Amino acid sequence: MSPPPPSQSATNPGSGGLPGVRIGHGWDRHRLATPDEGGRALVVGGVRLESPVGPIAHSDGDALYHAVTDALLGAIGADDIGVLFPNDDPRHDAEDSEVFLGEAVRRVREAGYGVVNLDATVRLERPRLSPAKGRIVENLRRVLGCEAVNVKGKTGEGVGPVGEGRAIEADAVVLVSRV
Ligand SMILES: [Zn+2]
Repeated sequence: MSPPPPSQSATNPGSGGLPGVRIGHGWDRHRLATPDEGGRALVVGGVRLESPVGPIAHSDGDALYHAVTDALLGAIGADDIGVLFPNDDPRHDAEDSEVFLGEAVRRVREAGYGVVNLDATVRLERPRLSPAKGRIVENLRRVLGCEAVNVKGKTGEGVGPVGEGRAIEADAVVLVSRV
């Protein structure tokens, strides 16, 4: 048996024989809490939002960056963010999640792929995402090296953990292609 190619994960052995185009999906959720309860400042897509509550997290708790990171890693069949950056690793305490995202982009390129487009949804009851959306999209374009970035903000309609203001969630779907 020859060793697997770099794009093939030991824990995701089904990723051999990669075709020219691959899709990846990521999802993340963080519980929201006041600073007294251990909540951090609320950061979404690298943008700090004014909020009385923020994520409980080992890193900076950027749910959107984490979902995009997992989507990129998933597209190339790599290990997920929790394996690559264990949340008990003191080096990642309060880490800027752009570090994780940048590493995922690096691995995508190393596997011979470039990002074609990203479509993401952030679920957050408040504050509204729209005033920050332009800056969030610019951050993602810069780190991904891709112009086709779409970010949507949704509320939880007052129900469930998002709707009750107890959580932030993000989904991301990416397409990558051979370069
Ligand atoms: Zn996360």
